[in-house]
This record gives sequence, C-alpha cells and structure tokens, in this order.
Amino acid sequence: MTEALFEDHDSPEMAALRDTARRFAREQVAPHHAQWERDGMVSRDVWRAAGTAGLLCMTTPEALGGAGADFRACQVFTQELGRLGLSGPVFHLHSEIVAPYLVHYGSAAQQQRWLPRMASGEVIGAIAMTEPDTGSDLAAIRTRAVQQPDGRWKLSGQKTFISNGQLADLVIVAAKTQPEKGAKGVSLLLVDTSLPGFRRGRKLEKLGMLAQDTSELFFDDMLLPADALLGEDGRGFGYLMTELPQERLLVALWAVAAMEGAVLWARDWLRERKAFGAPLADKQVLRHGLAACWSDTLAARAFAEDCVCRHIDGRLDSATASALKAWASEMQFSVLDRCLQMFGGWGYMRELPIARAWADARVQRIYGGTTEIMRELVARRLFD
Ligand SMILES: Cc1cc2nc3c(=O)[nH]c(=O)nc-3n(C[C@H](O)[C@H](O)[C@H](O)COP(=O)(O)OP(=O)(O)OC[C@H]3O[C@@H](n4cnc5c(N)ncnc54)[C@H](O)[C@@H]3O)c2cc1C
Repeated sequence: MTEALFEDHDSPEMAALRDTARRFAREQVAPHHAQWERDGMVSRDVWRAAGTAGLLCMTTPEALGGAGADFRACQVFTQELGRLGLSGPVFHLHSEIVAPYLVHYGSAAQQQRWLPRMASGEVIGAIAMTEPDTGSDLAAIRTRAVQQPDGRWKLSGQKTFISNGQLADLVIVAAKTQPEKGAKGVSLLLVDTSLPGFRRGRKLEKLGMLAQDTSELFFDDMLLPADALLGEDGRGFGYLMTELPQERLLVALWAVAAMEGAVLWARDWLRERKAFGAPLADKQVLRHGLAACWSDTLAARAFAEDCVCRHIDGRLDSATASALKAWASEMQFSVLDRCLQMFGGWGYMRELPIARAWADARVQRIYGGTTEIMRELVARRLFD
C-alpha cells in the first residue's frame, strides 16, 4: 500500500485539478526548493508559472480573472504542496487570504485593478497586520492613516513578520484611521508597493519556512490615493474577524497535509532502515508509534473535512475554525516530532524532508493566531 494510506475522495473535476497541482508541485516547485531556501525567497517565475497553470486565485470569480471554483480547489492545491513539504511559495496566502478581501470588500475599480493580475501571478499579494509591539492584540496597532484635505491617505508606521514581504506588489495594511475608537478605528488600505514612501526592511532569519520571505515593512509618510481605502472607514477590524476563519482553516489544511507526508516518509524509512539485523519496521515500539501517528492524522483529516464542508456551506463559525486551527497545528507538531524521532540522527539533517517539515511545523502554532488566542476564542464560545 502506498499513497492509499490517505485516499482522496475527489470529484472528477477535483481529480483533474489534483493531477495538475501534483505535476506543478513536483516539476515546478520541488526541484527549486532547496535553492529558494538558501536564497530566503522563491522566484517570481514560480508565481507566473502557477498563474499560467490556473492555480492562483481559483476561488475568485471568473469575471475577475479567477476560476470561480469552490474552496475544494484550494484544499487540493494546499494538500499537494503540503504533503511534499513545499512551504516556500505562499500561494494560499495570496489566493485565499489576500484576494478574498478584494472580492468581498473591494470596489469594482479596485477589483479590476488587482485581481486579474493576481490570478496571472503578475502581482503578488501580502497582508500586514502584525507590528513589532503587537500581534495577537490587533486593536493595539499603531500604524496610522490620516486622510488629507485632498482625499489622499498619509500612511505611517511599521509592520513585521509579513509573508511575501520582499516580493509583494500589493499589501493590504491594517492601520488606525480613528485611533480614539480602538478596534472600531481600524481600517484596511491597499498599498501599491511601487509608490514612494514604501520601504522593505530585513528579510527575517527564521527557524523554519526558510524559502518564505517573511519581512519587515515600513511606511514613511506614504501618500496613498483616496481610493486606497478598502471597504468602509473603521470597518477593518470587522473585516479581519470575518476573514480569519478561512485563514485558520488553511493553516489546518496545511497541518493535515504535512502530517500525511510525514507518516508516509516515516513508513518508508522504517521499511528500509535496518538495525539489529532486521528492518526497523519489525520493532513493535516503532510500528505502534507510527500506527498512532496515522490514527492522529486520520482524526485531523476528519475534523478538517468537517470544517471544509461547513465552510463551503457558509456555516464555519470563528470558534470552530479556531478549535481546528489550534488542535491541528498542535497535532501536526506532535506527529512530525514523533516521525522525526524514527529517523534517528538523519531526522535532524535538513537534507531529509522530515527535518525541514519539522522546522516548518513550529510556526503553525503561532501565526494566523496563536494556540492560546485560539483557545480563548473557543472558551468565549463556551462561557460567554
Ligand atoms: C513565519 C511567520 C509569518 C507570519 N506572517 C504574517 C503575515 O503575513 N501577516 C501578518 O500580519 N502577520 C504575520 N505573522 C505574525 C503572526 O500572526 C504573529 O506572530 C502572531 O499572531 C502572534 O503575535 P506576536 O508575535 O505579536 O505575539 P504576542 O501577541 O506578543 O504573544 C506572545 C505570547 O503571548 C501569548 N498571548 C498573547 N495574548 C494572550 C492572551 N490574551 N491570553 C493568553 N496568551 C496570550 C501568545 O499566545 C504568545 O504565546 C507571521 C509570523 C511568522 C512567525
């Protein structure tokens, strides 16, 4: 038995998409990934290639350049990259986190300006909420946007830990437009990174996700056109809260895919590697250890699948998405750690995918909302 350990129950349409996504992952991403890890970022070419293959902004309506597909399409692409540990190109952030803000809250002009080029891979998107002094507590951000008498916005402040930070052409920036109102004074602005006043800072050195260009961004009294405001003034926090469940679901889908990959790698290793005159797969402690990892992965798949169904039906609430994100990312780290142990010293070598995937896994418990914040959101549902 090979990949059948984790069967995909695809519709014919999704099976065809999986085939495209799998080929793309193996042919256009995997061969370059080690170089991108050394570079600390992926190439622009892979974004164009993903656009050409029709793999970007798949859930964006066709009239805006996307494929008008449902969320399953992005689940399939995430699975195919995640199972191979190809964490460098953050396509899902661009396609299913950034683009939906434009689809849901953008004006027709904003949508036409950005979405077709995001779908083709010509424009790369990022979202900037976190600042050096605040991440979990988004209402405390200090980046300021002040409307000028001529209608333009003056943006000043600093963001950090921004994925796609070096490559981004468009950044959705959370800023205070009415600071006295706290969370109700947060707005979202569309920042064209070719405009004066935008500055990219360091590409940060991380523990894992080495091919991602996580960066600092600076806005030095940057003047943005009046139509840079996304949606309504002061509604930004509400928009973030509405969109975050999908982001959390995506983190969980990556977690499940990573667990699937790790179980398969460990299974193959235990079969091949010999100790004390027999394959490691003969040792009951290891056999049972992997059996437990497989069971945990199946449980995570089932929970995630339930949330995908709810999401497609428009029934995924914030507490359930948070429960899944926390549970799946904690389980991912546990399963990957147990699988890595089965590789002995080789498990610690970055030349093996299990080592890279383990390092990548650590941040899943932090970004998109930490486990502690996720549990707080769940607890509010239970007690408030
Ligand atoms: C690789 C990477 C990529 C990222 N990409 C992006 C991106 O593209 N865009 C973006 O905006 N951000 C991004 N982030 C930022 C990420 O979302 C934040 O790091 C995360 O939300 C936590 O915020 P913080 O780092 O400020 O930690 P803090 O908020 O300072 O939290 C520190 C610790 O305190 C705990 N804590 C905080 N408040 C509470 C509470 N009320 N109760 C209990 N415990 C609490 C936290 O759980 C955590 O353990 C990224 C981060 C990383 C590492």
